[in-house]
Amino acid sequence: MKYKPADRIQDLQYFGEFGGVNPSISDSSTYTFLSAKTMFDTFEGNAEGCYLYSRHSSPSNLYLGEALAAMEGTETANVFGSGMGAITATLMQLCKAGDHIVCSRTIYGGTYAFLKNFAPQLGIETTFIDITKNEVVEAAVKKNTKVIYCESVSNPLLEIADLKSLSQISKNHNLQLVVDNTFSPLSISPAKLGADIVIHSLTKFINGSSDTVGGVVCGTKDFINALRNVNDGAAMLFGSTMDSLRASSILKNLRTLHIRMKQHSKNAMHLAEKFQEDGFKTVYPGLESHPGNQLFKTMMNEDYGFGGMLTIDVGSLDKANELMELMQERNLGYLAVSLGFYKTLFSAPGTSTSSEIPEEEQNEMGLSDGLIRFSIGLDNDISRTYNHMKECMEEVGVLPTEMV
Ligand code: PLP
Repeated sequence: MKYKPADRIQDLQYFGEFGGVNPSISDSSTYTFLSAKTMFDTFEGNAEGCYLYSRHSSPSNLYLGEALAAMEGTETANVFGSGMGAITATLMQLCKAGDHIVCSRTIYGGTYAFLKNFAPQLGIETTFIDITKNEVVEAAVKKNTKVIYCESVSNPLLEIADLKSLSQISKNHNLQLVVDNTFSPLSISPAKLGADIVIHSLTKFINGSSDTVGGVVCGTKDFINALRNVNDGAAMLFGSTMDSLRASSILKNLRTLHIRMKQHSKNAMHLAEKFQEDGFKTVYPGLESHPGNQLFKTMMNEDYGFGGMLTIDVGSLDKANELMELMQERNLGYLAVSLGFYKTLFSAPGTSTSSEIPEEEQNEMGLSDGLIRFSIGLDNDISRTYNHMKECMEEVGVLPTEMV
């Protein structure tokens, strides 16, 4: 049977404390106990349904976590104060000094910086590889490897990870496959394809309002309980906790995610086709020219399309900057990092979200100077937007790649 993540969100039924249609917000950092024995049991993790302190868990955070677990099809989930909070806690829970991680070389710059610069100080080494080549992934696995880490659709190059094959490799070697699904919520369900742990930066499409940062880890009850353990849980001890008010507002936005993703995908497909026709080197997983297009089709939940992210190459950083400034002036979107907003956001990843990656490595992985990353908005009339973008391109004198 086809997996329908939006139906699972729709089917959730939460009643508020006073019969409200939204769950009540738990506006407390600490909780009373009627007996001292229950307090002790709660600290020991033996009092189901009792709350002790909101860094550990709170009713509002649990509601949001359960909704995201339903979406991803995992047993449960824990929400965090940011995507990086979710990523770092997960990796620190899974790895200790002397362990090794095999990681895609095209990932979000912050994750890359953490694994490249920070984790080695704790004795954790990472080999960065081309995630699209199964034989390369397998060859990188060592005796002390604990984790294969990737993004389903990578930031910013939009490479597609073959999650079924990666899951097989990780099972063969007794590893954990950790997948960041931030770029493809609803479209791809990594846990259904064999991922052990699924992470999102909620800051992006899931919240969709660019008004907060947030993160989530979806996984088994055992793993989530380990993260929350008061003695050695990375969620509990690093303290990257989400505030209850935010959990409640993200839950409300999650309910419209399917409608938004369909529109983001429809608009991105339209622009990608047009930019490609115009002769620009365009990368969008929905285009047949994308090397991962067929693979995406085998993994996707069809209703939601190929997502809202695309890149074009305009030849040089100067031209990219000029074009982005003009597009902002003409109100076609914002020159800003991040993604999943109702307006289009554009940035040059080489000098922004991926600037942590040294220039030499950027060149090696195909991250060129003139690359512009677009998070396509919810525009009602995308052909109007395209016409205005084309005018900007002509004004700036940006030429299709083959003419450069
Ligand atoms: N994962 C991906 C793919 C991202 O693009 C980002 C942020 O840009 C993150 C994780 C980090 O999330 P946050 O900014 O919420 O900490």
